[in-house]
Amino acid sequence: MTSSPRRTGPEAIPAALDAPSPIERVGPITVAAAVYGLAYIAWERSGWGSPTVRDIVGNVAFMPLNLTVVLLNLVAASNELLDGRVRRALRLLALGSFLVLCGNAISTYYLVGLRSNPPVSWADPFYLGDSLAIITALLSVPLSRRTKLESWKFGLDAAMVVAGGGVAIWYFTVRGTADHASDAVVILLAFAYPIASLLVLLAITTVLLRGPLDGNRRAFGLLVSGISLSVVGDLTFDLLVVETGGRTASLIDALYLLAYLLMIASAELYWREPVPADSGARHYLPRRQPLSPLPYAAVATTYALLLATAFRYWTDPLSGVAIGAVLATVLVVARQVLAVRENVRLLAETAARQNEARFRALVQHSSDVIIVVRPDGTIRFVSPSAARVLRCDPAAIEGRQISDLLYGDDGEQARTFVAEAARTPGGMHPVEWRFRQPDGSALHAEVIATNLLDEPTVRGIVLNTRDVSERKRLEQQLIHQAFHDPLTGLANRALFRDRVSHALALARRQGRAITVLFLDLDDFKTVNDTLGHAEGDRLLIAAAERFRSCARVTDTVARLGGDEFGILLEDGAGCDGADELIQRLTEAMEVPFHLGGNEIPVRASVGVATAAGDESADDLLRNADVAMYAAKRGGKGRSETYQTQMYTDLRERLELEGELRSALDRDELVLHYQPIVCLRTGAVRGVEALVRWNHPRHGLLLPQHFVPLSEESGLMLPLGWWVLREACRQAQAWRLEYPELDLSVAVNLSARQLLERDLVAGTRTALIQTGVNPGAVMLEITEGTLMQQTGSMLERLQELKDLGVRLAIDDFGTGYSSLEYLRRFPIDILKIARPFVADVGAGIEKAALARAIVGLGDTLKLRTVAEGIETAEQRAALTVLGCELGQGHYFAPALPPDRLELFLDQAAQQREDAELQGPAAWVMAGMLR
Ligand code: C2E
Ligand code: CA
Ligand code: CA
Repeated sequence: MTSSPRRTGPEAIPAALDAPSPIERVGPITVAAAVYGLAYIAWERSGWGSPTVRDIVGNVAFMPLNLTVVLLNLVAASNELLDGRVRRALRLLALGSFLVLCGNAISTYYLVGLRSNPPVSWADPFYLGDSLAIITALLSVPLSRRTKLESWKFGLDAAMVVAGGGVAIWYFTVRGTADHASDAVVILLAFAYPIASLLVLLAITTVLLRGPLDGNRRAFGLLVSGISLSVVGDLTFDLLVVETGGRTASLIDALYLLAYLLMIASAELYWREPVPADSGARHYLPRRQPLSPLPYAAVATTYALLLATAFRYWTDPLSGVAIGAVLATVLVVARQVLAVRENVRLLAETAARQNEARFRALVQHSSDVIIVVRPDGTIRFVSPSAARVLRCDPAAIEGRQISDLLYGDDGEQARTFVAEAARTPGGMHPVEWRFRQPDGSALHAEVIATNLLDEPTVRGIVLNTRDVSERKRLEQQLIHQAFHDPLTGLANRALFRDRVSHALALARRQGRAITVLFLDLDDFKTVNDTLGHAEGDRLLIAAAERFRSCARVTDTVARLGGDEFGILLEDGAGCDGADELIQRLTEAMEVPFHLGGNEIPVRASVGVATAAGDESADDLLRNADVAMYAAKRGGKGRSETYQTQMYTDLRERLELEGELRSALDRDELVLHYQPIVCLRTGAVRGVEALVRWNHPRHGLLLPQHFVPLSEESGLMLPLGWWVLREACRQAQAWRLEYPELDLSVAVNLSARQLLERDLVAGTRTALIQTGVNPGAVMLEITEGTLMQQTGSMLERLQELKDLGVRLAIDDFGTGYSSLEYLRRFPIDILKIARPFVADVGAGIEKAALARAIVGLGDTLKLRTVAEGIETAEQRAALTVLGCELGQGHYFAPALPPDRLELFLDQAAQQREDAELQGPAAWVMAGMLR
């Protein structure tokens, strides 16, 4: 029977597998009730038992069924799965049945206890209460349409039913009975029961028409059927009471029984197979307002009765008036119906007209032009905005071909586009066409096509045409901005790079070479710093103009950033072309620039790179840059052509520079010391400190590999301070260890150090901290450096002198210093540069310069030190010339401190051994080398 599992929703299990046969759905309680009912009917028909017994049984027999309905509904209502409103309805139904039960009990008491069957009893309010409970229950079921107006409408409908039904009841029943039973309560009841039944019917129709939302559709169907049957039973009963005056009739009993069974089945279904709230609920769908026929039937009945009565007594003047009134009312209603229909039509028409006017206005005032064309491109319609946008008469172009309006090959494209749009339903991607303007210019327009061939009101392809010339102009401006330098108007780096890569691709295919020039203004920073940025900008603009005028039309001139420019030579002129261009550029740059009221000479360094192989644009630009860098290193205003070595050098330099920064921190720098000896006696008089870099990978690096680098990268200052301190420290240590030698230490100063503001103070600090006697410290400055630095140099040197240190001119003879300088500067020592020393041993003639230098020293009262003595002959010749001191590999190379100590020890030993025929130091030197 109800063995099917309790379902949580209609979709929980596939319907085909699960759907039980109707008989299976009938619950056991319903079945039991049916068996009970059949038994009762059988007994009833058998005619068994005395009339009193039959009457009592007839009354009592329905009470268990009442009770079952009450209990089942209460149980079902307690299930929280169900919608709250459904549960309320079920509780009301239980209340209704309970009231019936009470009514039945009271009736039975009258019948059995008091042995009377009064027409009016205390049972009647209970029976009527049942109807009220049922109506309330039905109206509380969730419905798809529930507005405030609905309840008013229900009230009006109910009033119509009460009025119409009341008249009918009065006419058919009460009118007759009222004559012999004039008890007001009896008459009231005679009205009350049928009207209650009619109202229940009204509630049923209203609920069904308004669409119940709850998912328990079958249970609700059973319930409605049950209530309807019982209403039919009630009405029939009323009729029978009227006709026979008795209470028992087996037909009615059968009707009631069926009604009870349906209600029991419904309640059992609500209880056993509840469909939870929401699940299966229909959503609200707006639909035509349904009208319950019942109120109209009631009114119609009243009118029918009125007419029937009026015709029966047609001689009565009231009858004529009634007929007239009915006819007039019918006509008024008919007229009203017509008026309403007409109003509805008018409203719809006005709305349509307003819509059309609105759309027409939209089309007319739209900034877009709407063109409708046939699949073959013939124009069927053009919106008025064409006059403003396309500057042509809309009427004049209707009937012409769309391609006639377009520029160049856009016409041909338009033809194919329209044909394709005709084959494609819906919209197409936007296209851009140029429309021919009356003045011959072109208007850029974006066109969106929509195929509305199937739309009866259009029957064409709609071309939504929008003027985009402003957007196009902006786009072009933006593109120009993106690829040009705003200051000079030249191409920028992005465009230059792009041009270079295109030229490379083309050149590769044609087997040609292309050349790129990289230019950098030499003194731009100085101009910017001294004359200000405005003048700097003017210089850039003027230089750009010169570059542009030197280049050919086919060349691309670009500003790559800052003061860097690039020129791409594309026409295959190759190296010759580049040389000619450089020649022109050099000449152009020889003319000074007029800046800040002055004529300022500005040069440019140029790097040239040619690509013939598979270099990329970036490679080529980088090569030109590297070449420019090399040119710059070589001096200003020069040009250099790229060679592979340049790049390797540059990379190594950059690498080394990076490492040099940390070399100081990591104690990788060391000082070696070369002895300076008395040429005559060979006694060690001092040492020159020479810096070395103990490089982790390259081994011991000589100064030439990193001193120029540190000059350029600004590392020279910290390096120089370290050398000075370390040399002083070491000198002091040795001076204490070998007091008899009275050693002095020579320290090289670089050009950069001489410029340093703190030079004097820093030197003083170094002297004080190390405690070395200033007189034992000799600072060497190359002749070249001395010549470059003028002005405050004299003061600077004087201040150094005042510290007590001695000053030497290094590499003397290579820097063309004037005697005047030598006289003015507070110099103590001249160091004769190695080339002159090398010449000394090669003959009298060549020794002339060295001789002159020694002579100069004598004249100016300066001591002389010969550098780079390598042979005994050189030493001998210099001694003869009167040179006092010397250093060189003949005595000893630059030595690390520990080996220098060894050297000093050995020298002391030899001196102790006294008579030396010649300096035996070379033996040591050989050993030490
Ligand atoms: P310089 O001051 O003229 O130093 C003498 C250079 O000649 C040293 O080279 C030394 O090793 C080398 N030399 C000495 N005797 C002979 C010889 O008999 N034959 C040959 N062929 N060479 C000899 P080094 O050490 O490579 O230094 C080169 C230059 O580096 C120095 O020239 C100096 O100008 C610079 N320098 C070295 N150390 C420093 C330093 O601490 N500071 C600065 N600013 N410059 C330094
Ligand atoms: Ca030196
Ligand atoms: Ca030197």
